[in-house]
This record gives sequence, C-alpha cells and structure tokens, in this order.
Amino acid sequence: MNTPTPHSANPWAPPPIRVPEAPQWPRLSPLDKAALIGRIKSLLQEQGALLVAHYYTDGDLQQLAEDTGGCVADSLEMARFGAQSAATTLVVCGVRFMGETAKILNPEKRILMPDLRATCSLDEGCPLELFSAFCDQHPERTVVVYANTSAAVKARSDWVVTSSIALPIVTHLHALGEKILWAPDKHLGHYIERKTGADMLLWPGACVVHEEFKGFALQRLRRLHPEAAVLVHPESPDEVVDQADVVGSTTALIRAVTELPNREFIVATDEGIFWKMHQLAPHKKLIAAPTAGVGATCESCAHCPWMAMNALQNLEEVLATGSNEVQIDPEIGRRAVAPIQRMLDFARAQGPTPSRARVLGG
Ligand code: SF4
Repeated sequence: MNTPTPHSANPWAPPPIRVPEAPQWPRLSPLDKAALIGRIKSLLQEQGALLVAHYYTDGDLQQLAEDTGGCVADSLEMARFGAQSAATTLVVCGVRFMGETAKILNPEKRILMPDLRATCSLDEGCPLELFSAFCDQHPERTVVVYANTSAAVKARSDWVVTSSIALPIVTHLHALGEKILWAPDKHLGHYIERKTGADMLLWPGACVVHEEFKGFALQRLRRLHPEAAVLVHPESPDEVVDQADVVGSTTALIRAVTELPNREFIVATDEGIFWKMHQLAPHKKLIAAPTAGVGATCESCAHCPWMAMNALQNLEEVLATGSNEVQIDPEIGRRAVAPIQRMLDFARAQGPTPSRARVLGG
C-alpha cells in the first residue's frame, strides 16, 4: 500500500479521535411517539421543510422522511436530492459533512441538523492545515477526497467522491494517467487502489465503525452460516473485504439483499442499514458481522455514535426553534462547490443508478 510513512514516524498522522458515548434517548410509549411524529409532520408542513436522512440513522427517522416526501439515501443521493428539491428548508439527519454538502450546493436554502456536533471520525481525522501541507508536498497529484470531510478540505480538493462513485471516478482519472492523492479513508483508498491499479497516495484516516469489523471472527461466523452472502462496505479492513461476496456502498449492499437469491446475509456496515434492508426484503435474515474477537474491546459495536445523535426529540426541537442551522463561509463554499459539482456531473454522465452488475463489481 502506498501510504506516506510508518505511523509512528508519520508527520501526517491524524489527531486522536475522541469517540463520544452513543446518546441514550428516553424510550417513548407508542402513544407519545405517535404524538411526537404528528407534531414533527405539522412543523415540516408549516415550514415547507423536507427531511433528508442517511441509511445509518434511526429507523423512525427514515420512516418519517419517506412518509413526508423527503429522502432516505446514501450521501451521493442525499446531495442529489438536496440540489434538486424545491423545498426552502432541508433538515439533514446524518452527520455534519452531509449538512455542509447540502449547504454548499444550496447556499440559498436553510439547512438544519438535529445536532451539529454529529461529526465523523474521517472528517475529524483530516484537519485542513495538516492535509493542506500534505497536498503541498505532492503538487503533481490530483487530490481526490471522500465526501466525509469538512467543507474546507473539500475546497482544497480537485474531486469529491462518495463510496458509490469513487471507483468509476478513480478508474477515469487513472485512464487519463493521473496520479492520485486520496483522503481520508485508507481502507477505501486501498480497496480502490487494488481494483484500479491507480497510483494512489493514501491519507491514514479510518472510520471507527468499519475498522472494528474483524476478519477472524467473520471466518468463524461464515462457517456457522455457509449459505449466507457476505456484504461488506469498503471502509472495512482488507481481511474483511477479502471475504466478501459483495463489496459496495450502502446502496449497493441494500440492492444485493433484494436481488441475490440467498436467504441469509452477513452484513459488515453500520447496523442502521438493517431498517431499509428489512423494509425491502422482509423475509431475508440479516446477521451483523462481528465487530470484536474474543476478549477484544468493542468501541463502535457497528453503530456510528455520531449518527446516533439524530433522534425524533431533537428533530422536533430544531424545527420548533430554528436552531442548528448549518453555516458555511461563503468563500469556502464557493471553492468547495466545484469538486462536488464535478462528481455530480460525472454521475449524471454515467446515467441512472448503477446496474447490479456494476455495483456488485464495485
Ligand atoms: S459510520 Fe464511519 S464514516 Fe460513517 S459517519 Fe460514522 S464514523 Fe463517519
């Protein structure tokens, strides 16, 4: 792997990530929950607002987004939906970079988030100053950053990609003979490097959720479920990716559950995705991939602690008070929009959502 230098001597080592405790929301009785959902629906209607929710958020939020004309999607589709929607207010249920991307693409719209502290270990692990210095050392390389980065890091890039479009974009750049500086997820970068043969210099960031999946424990689980197809998000380590029947973005993994004939699936990505998988394939059995070997300490337990900061309770609060509006420095937004738009234009030129064959290949 073409990483900068060994970690201990690595001047580009990202800062240590402080993983928050997953918030414990009070349990609501069915009556209280129905009343709360009713109030949120009224607020959405009064304010001409739509919900844009990621697959990793709580199922109640995904259901509400669908019931009210909003969108439940991966980060590429969230960005597309926000850019095409006529709503004047978008409430982004996800993590901060998703709200920022919505604001960059729609500076005239009001973008709210249930909790602005909901960040991402990839974003936190790629601070602008350090990353910028890294780029300055490699001016000959095309800078490709994953969407899970701050607006300022996007503004420093040539291309922004999501996991569903990263492989075709890097394939395209490689065919043009370009060398790539990739950030921040080293596992996804290494996966793409292996698939494309592109010359990629990798920033050493990682997702705290996917990095916890364990290859040895997965081998044992596969022996217990020999008929199960193994679905893996490419932010996972090589030892997990190498055991996959399907490697792909959240959208690709959901499609695999609906399209493959298997009755059982072992799923290595955030467990929030199970809500949509169950909805589309209720008769299929979903098994969470193991996040810890015997005696290991599980930090993430396959659920992103920042995604868990989104709940019905704080969603109602931001709609009622107008708090937690996403703000972007206009100059940073102006520079960040070009690499994001480049990705959206590339995706549009590729045509509709990828066919199964291409998704399964990616
Ligand atoms: S699951 Fe990982 S990549 Fe996604 S928001 Fe959480 S920390 Fe970031």
